[in-house]
Amino acid sequence: MFIVVGSGASGATIAKELASLGKEVLILECGSIVDVKKAATTYRTITSHDIEILQNICIGGSTVTTLGNSLRLDNELKDYYLEAEKELGVNEPPDSHIGNGTRLLLETSSEWKKMPKSIDFSKCRSCGKCAFGCPYDAKWTAIHYINYAISKGAKLLPESPVDKVIIKGEKAIGVRLINGREIMGDAVILCAGAIDTPRILIKSGIEDVGSGFFVDIFITVGGIVENKKLCFDRELNMAIFINREGYLLSPHYSIFLLPKILSKGIRANKEEILGIMVKIADEPNGIVKLDSVEKSITRRDFDLLERGKKEAEELLIHSGVNPNTIVYTHLRGAHPGGSCSSITDGYTPILESLYVADASILKGPLGMPPMLTIIAKSKKIASTLVGRA
Ligand SMILES: Cc1cc2nc3c(=O)[nH]c(=O)nc-3n(C[C@H](O)[C@H](O)[C@H](O)COP(=O)(O)OP(=O)(O)OC[C@H]3O[C@@H](n4cnc5c(N)ncnc54)[C@H](O)[C@@H]3O)c2cc1C
Repeated sequence: MFIVVGSGASGATIAKELASLGKEVLILECGSIVDVKKAATTYRTITSHDIEILQNICIGGSTVTTLGNSLRLDNELKDYYLEAEKELGVNEPPDSHIGNGTRLLLETSSEWKKMPKSIDFSKCRSCGKCAFGCPYDAKWTAIHYINYAISKGAKLLPESPVDKVIIKGEKAIGVRLINGREIMGDAVILCAGAIDTPRILIKSGIEDVGSGFFVDIFITVGGIVENKKLCFDRELNMAIFINREGYLLSPHYSIFLLPKILSKGIRANKEEILGIMVKIADEPNGIVKLDSVEKSITRRDFDLLERGKKEAEELLIHSGVNPNTIVYTHLRGAHPGGSCSSITDGYTPILESLYVADASILKGPLGMPPMLTIIAKSKKIASTLVGRA
């Protein structure tokens, strides 16, 4: 039996691939089954040196709140990307789903490109709620793969946090849950995300993990287009993007913008706001420890953010934003990764029968949406697993 720990982007893919091949699969997930419409209730935020790191703890992991951005990042995974794109229904937003704010920004530069999305636009109502959980079931989430895996015989145990891997000699033989229950299997694939997977490994006696941690730090720069009812808060976010060396720009509404603008003493309402996300490929200088996460901004990261902010401001002003109203949100990161990359690439077991497939195996810096790459890599890892365990 294959024991898959975690049911997010990587865990769901591994489980689906193995179950489709008739393999016996058990998925252990610490979170609960969630109605995707209420996905915002599943956020877990960890703050380190003023950087807020976002993740979701539930069936489907952090895929329940993605914006559906689905980009290719690794040429060697071509066939796996093709398969994943087909299954996720990756496509570009049609013009009918490009909102007023995004249209204003489109006029500022010919460099904007449409963002490929894993969204079914026949169902999407451009409500701008992707990061709170899709109200219309238009967005792909890993729950789709989990349901498929279950239809092929996989078993799912929600609310079953794994504490450690049981190791005998140099081989993984099972896992122990936090409640003390032990479950034996032929192989263990850790997919608990870049914060929890290294912690499970440390508790299992594998200490040399946790470094190389990155989060793709982002901020949103925004201001007011006076007397224009854009309703940017209710349109498809990140529908277009510009990719620069080290950072990405994309139209983004943040709930933190309005309070910041009001605190400057400016009369404003959210319907006049226009914003751009600046997301950088931060240096993988972070470290995940058993009880803490250490992640700080480096001089290089700071300079990249400043460059991105300046360009975002120029584009916003070009679109009609009053420069005196421009504010910036605090530092956040929603792509935790890299924390096991020093010990495995995912294809090589850490010990006999012990694998890692989640974002912790990615080598940073990235600065780009990683979900499609995690899925493509997990597909490849699943195919290397078959026949070995
Ligand atoms: C708000 C937001 C928006 C995003 N938007 C995009 C986007 O548009 N495009 C994109 O490419 N990426 C996006 N991402 C990032 C993407 O969702 C993640 O990179 C991806 O889901 C990571 O996959 P993973 O398998 O490593 O971890 P996750 O998907 O987070 O899955 C980890 C799973 O492990 C479970 N778990 C944790 N500890 C344990 C334990 N001890 N035992 C059992 N289970 C455990 C968790 O509950 C979770 O289900 C976004 C993320 C957020 C938070």
